[in-house]
Amino acid sequence: MGDSGRLESPDFVQTSLAGAMALGLEPGSFYRNAYPGSLNLLMTYQDGCRANCSYCGLARERCSAPAENTFIRVKWPVYKLAAIIDILRRPPQAAASKVQKLGRICISMITHPRAADDCINIVRQLGKETQLPISVLASPTVLADAVSFFKDIKVAGADRVGIAVDAATPELFSAMRGVAVGGPHRWARYWESIEQAVTVFGCEQVSVHLIVGLGETEQAMVQAIARANQYGAQAHLFSFCPEPGSKLGSQEPPSYGQYRRIQLAAYFLNKKQITIDDFEFNSQGKIVGYGRSLDAILGDNLAAGEPFMTSGCPNREGCVACNRPYGNERPGPILRNYPFRPEAGDILTIKGQVWDE
Ligand code: SF4
Repeated sequence: MGDSGRLESPDFVQTSLAGAMALGLEPGSFYRNAYPGSLNLLMTYQDGCRANCSYCGLARERCSAPAENTFIRVKWPVYKLAAIIDILRRPPQAAASKVQKLGRICISMITHPRAADDCINIVRQLGKETQLPISVLASPTVLADAVSFFKDIKVAGADRVGIAVDAATPELFSAMRGVAVGGPHRWARYWESIEQAVTVFGCEQVSVHLIVGLGETEQAMVQAIARANQYGAQAHLFSFCPEPGSKLGSQEPPSYGQYRRIQLAAYFLNKKQITIDDFEFNSQGKIVGYGRSLDAILGDNLAAGEPFMTSGCPNREGCVACNRPYGNERPGPILRNYPFRPEAGDILTIKGQVWDE
């Protein structure tokens, strides 16, 4: 148990509701039979995250009481890490089918002084006791020596690192996560740690999380994606969704059109299918072209809808494991991040949205 007998990391972690369902610890199933391909674990401390990001349910100054706190709008139940490991170690014939579909574990740090050491400890336990590849979503702000930390988690068993820059420009970053909200995060430190993570883990083994719809222009988001690629990292997208009680609790999500255009941009740039110079923007910074028609780049079926599937770390077969079913939105007929391959009807819907406002 953590200090003072509290339910804290490293002995305890929170899991996403989807992860708890995959482990058989929560009942339920997902809209359209989606299943999570990654077990997402969140480190947990009684005194919470020290940061104050204006869109986040874990922010220090969120208005709602701690018992009501959600993260990405869903509850994150707390479990003993040993109990999770016990489930993951069951032989295939004894494991529930959803457990068998897990292709990765992701450990998210929060901004807490103990998070770095405890994270290494958690990676070590999971690396030793399970066969699943491990990602760490690192919090650069609490890393006294980021290169040593990255080397330590690599030795402990992690093969990938994510850094959640979230905001596309230094000004938005400061306004949402930095000085303007009394938060400890600094844009330069985040990007420096991306560079350091690539040095340790190698190109394409590091991801940069970006949230679409925090107030950036499409052009600014394209530049942030291109910057991540220049650092040797992949961009993984999230669609802003208002978290009740957070500072941005009443802000609208981005339009479907905006999100589709950025999904395409990230897909093209991550795969190096086009360069930033191919993009055409209007005077408001909105994407109005990709240099060639979408049919010419992707074919009539929009690459079978792949650009609109959740972007995340892969399983051992190279397919996206971290598909975060409905992590961005309520389950419903029109999805932003498809946690599975979109069907023909979905692709028709998407085609109608790409050039919408
Ligand atoms: S650092 Fe992460 S967990 Fe903490 S408030 Fe910011 S976004 Fe939320």
